[in-house]
Amino acid sequence: MVSTQEKPRTAIVVGAGAGGIAISARLAKAGLKVTVLEKNDFTGGRCSIFRSKAGFRFDQGPSLLLLPNLFRETFGDLDTTLEKEGVELLQCFPNYDIWFSDGAVFRSSTDTVAMKKEIEKWEGPDGFQRYLTWLAEAHGHYESSLQHVLHRNFTNHLQLADPRFVAPGIALHPLESIWSRTSRYFWSDRLRRVFTFATMYMGMSPYDAPSTYSLLQYTELAEGIWYPRGGFQTILAAIERIGRKLGVEYRLSTPVSKILTGGPDGRTATGVQLETGEQLHADLVIVNADLVYAYNNLFPQENEDAVVGKEITTYARQLSTKEASCSSISFYWSFSQKIPELGTHNIFLADEYKESFDAIFKRHTLPSDPSFYINVPSRIDPSAAPSPDQDAIIALVPIGHLTSGSSTDYSALIKQARAAVLQTIQRRIKCVDLAPLIIEETINTPPVWQEKFNLDRGAILGLSHSFFNVLSFRPRTRAKALKNAYFVGASTHPGTGVPIVLAGAKITAEQILEDKEMEVPWELNKHWKGEQRAMERSRGFRGQLDVLKRPAWVDDWNLFMGMVVALLGLLVVYYSGFLGNVPSGMKVVGDDW
Ligand SMILES: Cc1cc2nc3c(=O)[nH]c(=O)nc-3n(C[C@H](O)[C@H](O)[C@H](O)COP(=O)(O)OP(=O)(O)OC[C@H]3O[C@@H](n4cnc5c(N)ncnc54)[C@H](O)[C@@H]3O)c2cc1C
Repeated sequence: MVSTQEKPRTAIVVGAGAGGIAISARLAKAGLKVTVLEKNDFTGGRCSIFRSKAGFRFDQGPSLLLLPNLFRETFGDLDTTLEKEGVELLQCFPNYDIWFSDGAVFRSSTDTVAMKKEIEKWEGPDGFQRYLTWLAEAHGHYESSLQHVLHRNFTNHLQLADPRFVAPGIALHPLESIWSRTSRYFWSDRLRRVFTFATMYMGMSPYDAPSTYSLLQYTELAEGIWYPRGGFQTILAAIERIGRKLGVEYRLSTPVSKILTGGPDGRTATGVQLETGEQLHADLVIVNADLVYAYNNLFPQENEDAVVGKEITTYARQLSTKEASCSSISFYWSFSQKIPELGTHNIFLADEYKESFDAIFKRHTLPSDPSFYINVPSRIDPSAAPSPDQDAIIALVPIGHLTSGSSTDYSALIKQARAAVLQTIQRRIKCVDLAPLIIEETINTPPVWQEKFNLDRGAILGLSHSFFNVLSFRPRTRAKALKNAYFVGASTHPGTGVPIVLAGAKITAEQILEDKEMEVPWELNKHWKGEQRAMERSRGFRGQLDVLKRPAWVDDWNLFMGMVVALLGLLVVYYSGFLGNVPSGMKVVGDDW
């Protein structure tokens, strides 16, 4: 590569969340001296764990590890594997139980035999065929998203018109809601709910989320739900260790208060100022802190910077009006005894399904009859509880994000949510009275999420993933108005969820290295070649028996079918004698000529 510019040697990463940890290891591998500054006294951000006084372990945020190949890709690019780094992924089996108020329970699993029975129970004998058709479509959403969205950056709107993107883009069905599309394949309201609620993983209502996101349930069914032994954060801790070995320095309890600018044009990020007043300089600044918060609070504003301030303030204000994901009241409970009726993952759906989403996303409040998610990490990994006869239980109750000007009484909502959760569980799974068994309780509410991690509006999953908030509409990974400043994390491209943020770290790192004309020390994302080659390598190829021989006609099924139909047509015409004998009474045009 012929270089025309001076290479950056140092980088500051603001925030040690999934995005910050992953990008710092990647940039260190590319030869940069990276310093990560984290406001909290722990790393991982939303994907962190904490221990209670009595020794229970809780995952603060993520508990469902989906898209395992994206995790493997990060480790592969850093020349290692999950296994070599001591990360053990445990498969959660079944995936989860979905409990309804009428006493019915739907068990979702990767076991096709069990799924067939479950589907036919509610949808009749032809229901399974419709399920398979849905699964095939969701498989398409998944594969196409991996190739065209999660391994690609979007830097301008013209990319949406690129012919190579248009056809796969349309096939992602981005303009139809997941509820509407799923309703084609599942005809009972029960299974429509079963196969749509997962949009809540992205903090969205199934009535608004693009049907593209059926890929989430697809990956659960085709690749399983996993949990890293020792807690979700162990996977980030492993990437952090790799980074440290490559020279990354972590400074905890170090809140950044602003991005410094300078350079000949005043439009270059030159470092950061800490809350203590200390200034640190670097050639690059990568922001992992929530993007909307950062533009509003860390970037220079119009009253501070005559060069870029106005542009940034205008953009920051626009961002604050963009749709955001929901928030949650999350309870972290230490239970004095096991609740064996609960599996690792349990979903309790509201009777008034649509109304429960409207309350969260339209009125930004707690539904009177909330749907909620119960996670029991000690079921899959007993090390989450101090003793084998106890359970660590997390209840995630989705609630609207914070809105400006409203004064919500969260203590009343906590009381309401706690009562609803405990009563609903007890009624539906028919277990003992739960409240007296709780020996410790920690609670994260929207203001806590906002304060602890600087999340704009306390939205736990960042900006929403509605159509006008994704692809080239999502805030860009290269910062607006400032050179040498970049973003990584849930609210920039490609989006939220730990594996997606890891994919984003690769995208931003590659963009930085390309901008600076530096070598990318792993296989390039472009056109998804790297992963394809990795899969080739990992395929159990032993010899002739394993050579893939793709029949030529498979490549163009339509052409093949067209030829078959044409041939059949000719045969029919030939055998009916149509070519030689004109049926009586029929005049052949042109005969008179
Ligand atoms: C309750 C909940 C459940 C979830 N469940 C799942 C799940 O099951 N599966 C899944 O894959 N994902 C899940 N997610 C989403 C996932 O956790 C996030 O998408 C991902 O962790 C976001 O990572 P990030 O790097 O973008 O941001 P963050 O984790 O927010 O990291 C940003 C870091 O920046 C720090 N920071 C902020 N401001 C400053 C500052 N001024 N100075 C210094 N540091 C600063 C913050 O403290 C934080 O550590 C869940 C999230 C939540 C909250």
